[in-house]
Amino acid sequence: MLLHTLNRLARYGMVLAACLCIIGLAGCGPAADVPDDGKLKVAVTFDALKEFTQAVGGDKVDVYTLIPDGTEPHEFQPTTQTIKHLGKSQLFVYSGLGMEPWAPKVVEAAKNTSLHTVNASQGVTPIALTDEEDVKEHGAYDPHIWLSLVNAQIEVSNIAAALAEADPANADYYRNNAANYKKQLQALQDEYARKFASVPRKDFVTGHAAFAYLCRDFGLTQHSVESVFSSGEPSARQLARLADYCRANDVRTIFVEDMVSPKTSETLAREVGARVETIHTIETSEDDESYLDRMRDNLEKIYASSLR
Ligand SMILES: [Zn+2]
Repeated sequence: MLLHTLNRLARYGMVLAACLCIIGLAGCGPAADVPDDGKLKVAVTFDALKEFTQAVGGDKVDVYTLIPDGTEPHEFQPTTQTIKHLGKSQLFVYSGLGMEPWAPKVVEAAKNTSLHTVNASQGVTPIALTDEEDVKEHGAYDPHIWLSLVNAQIEVSNIAAALAEADPANADYYRNNAANYKKQLQALQDEYARKFASVPRKDFVTGHAAFAYLCRDFGLTQHSVESVFSSGEPSARQLARLADYCRANDVRTIFVEDMVSPKTSETLAREVGARVETIHTIETSEDDESYLDRMRDNLEKIYASSLR
């Protein structure tokens, strides 16, 4: 009799345990994915996204950049490290439009069922690529959306929504931070929209053709030494044509990025008697300079060059 009762109790116990388990699972929305230290683990692909995620996530997130600093993002190939980090993350943020063609593959390889994923370019109006080779290799669109303060705000909104979904307990915090950050982005946009409205020169010459979206925002045109994906060296003919353009149009500044063969741009600058200025593509981190610092620096230098 006692044994029978114990058996029954044990059975009830198991049923009860199973019930609790189901209740636990049901209650285990995405919020329960947040680790013990209370910080959401977020993996991002490159530096601009790290800046946006940090601005929105504040002290509620731990952000890890998958593409190591010093690696040209357009040439990055994921490693076992990349997959390992996605396995430990709750949210994966990528920029999309061909910037990280490897993204779906690594998400699949990570086999992390609690991983939330966001393509931060959703809702951006993309610029189509014209170079056939680029289209074949990288897809139909120019990926450099984060170099536009207008698109950056769309990316920030997408990231805020993804953070809120992965960590609903802090949804209001993320939305407030996003709203504040977007205000700063828009203020910088407004400031330079006013300045560029009346400049005599509406174009500039740069190394890596990464500024098409920035140009669209301000009615400017970029001429570049290297293509959108900075793949390979420009041909002698291409360079000669660019040098002729610089001379004919009295171009006095050639912009260069640290990551993309600055030597070619420097040679061009010497040849046409222009000076070299650094410009930031924000694909990799630079000391402690924030996204907003670097965008202001870019805009101020392009503005200064457009006054002559
Ligand atoms: Zn680029």
